[in-house]
Amino acid sequence: MSFYQPNETHDPNLKSWLESANDPNTDFPLQNLPVCKFIHQGNTKIGIAIGDFVLDFEPYYNMFVAERFEEKSLALAASHKVRKKLIEDFSINASSSLKNLISEHLLIPMNSCRFVLPFEIGDYTDFYCSIFHATNVGMMLRPENPLFPNYKWLPVGYHGRASSVVISGTKIKRPKGQRRIENGNIPVFEPCKNLDYEVEVGFFISKGNELGKPVSIQEAEDYIFGLCLVNDWSARDIQAWEYQPLGPFLAKSFATSISPFIVTMEALAPFRVPAFERPEGDPKPLEYLYDETNQKYGGIDLNLEVYIQTQKMREEGFEPYLLSRSNMKDLYWTIGQMVAHHTSNGCNLRVGDLIATGTVSGRNKNERGCLLELTWRGSEPIELPTGEIRRFLEDGDEIIMKGYCEREGFRRIGFGECRGLILPADQFN
Ligand code: CA
Repeated sequence: MSFYQPNETHDPNLKSWLESANDPNTDFPLQNLPVCKFIHQGNTKIGIAIGDFVLDFEPYYNMFVAERFEEKSLALAASHKVRKKLIEDFSINASSSLKNLISEHLLIPMNSCRFVLPFEIGDYTDFYCSIFHATNVGMMLRPENPLFPNYKWLPVGYHGRASSVVISGTKIKRPKGQRRIENGNIPVFEPCKNLDYEVEVGFFISKGNELGKPVSIQEAEDYIFGLCLVNDWSARDIQAWEYQPLGPFLAKSFATSISPFIVTMEALAPFRVPAFERPEGDPKPLEYLYDETNQKYGGIDLNLEVYIQTQKMREEGFEPYLLSRSNMKDLYWTIGQMVAHHTSNGCNLRVGDLIATGTVSGRNKNERGCLLELTWRGSEPIELPTGEIRRFLEDGDEIIMKGYCEREGFRRIGFGECRGLILPADQFN
């Protein structure tokens, strides 16, 4: 089965004895149940987010589900079997003894959990799937011909750096690097001046393919575990100097932040939408990237928001300021097409590989997913409520990304947050 269809676990009327799971504003109602890893009292644990709490998965499973020995993995925590059982055990109809047992022994307040990366990430690939982002960036460099001729034929991507993927909340040190100076012949090596974020969606690979055996577009979603939020921090001045001819390198590899929760493909079932509707005149994808079912369900209606909070805003009590709102459904390529293309040459993906979509931007100005686009390379600065001006990020700025899915007739589910605060170049965290 490639695409989940909504089932009884998506029933919008499900109610829990855990009050915070019923809060209309929670990201984590019973219909969501994203998985994560966290450290509690020195132990690394698998968790499932429910309301304001994280369920300690392993003892829960041993007590209530296990019939025989099974490895307690994230995949098991994300399985349909566990999802169904959790909805039963957290239902308002559960017995009070069950409820007491779970709430006294297995629920940990989310704000006391220290989240860690859900997988040991072997490889990280970053795509470039928003045609709006690619067009905007292209226009700054080649106004007459913003998109390269390959763009509508294949999902463009590059191999990112897995070792510097960090969990939300990790502070980000401003990188140093080489930058060309106006009218100068010799580049300088200095702290980055044009530090930026990129709002993206990431997905984890749930099973590997053998080297030399491509994954077909029809099977592609079977290899995807679930989604998280990604901030692909970018040093624009370093990037501009180093990227030719092999693409981004040190401008990206200093840090990539991800949100701690993986929202499963099953939880996302009600929010599947058709693949991006290609405008008249755009080519139909080649056969290995084209499938009717993928065209019908391959998109995901996921709203993304980016906020900034500067040091001054924190000191003066200003709430984070909304920079952009965009939606994953506006991506030119589907996640299934990304997997099919990535493996089309026989390249093997492995469990825990992280793949990101590229900056998610939309048609409108308020849907631009990075400062490079929002400020048009610094030429249209943003004014914040404190009167501060931003072209690119300053030390002390915090970027907060949020994501949520909503659709009439279904419960809203959220992704939590992906946060990162910028430290000065010479300070270590
Ligand atoms: Ca990127």
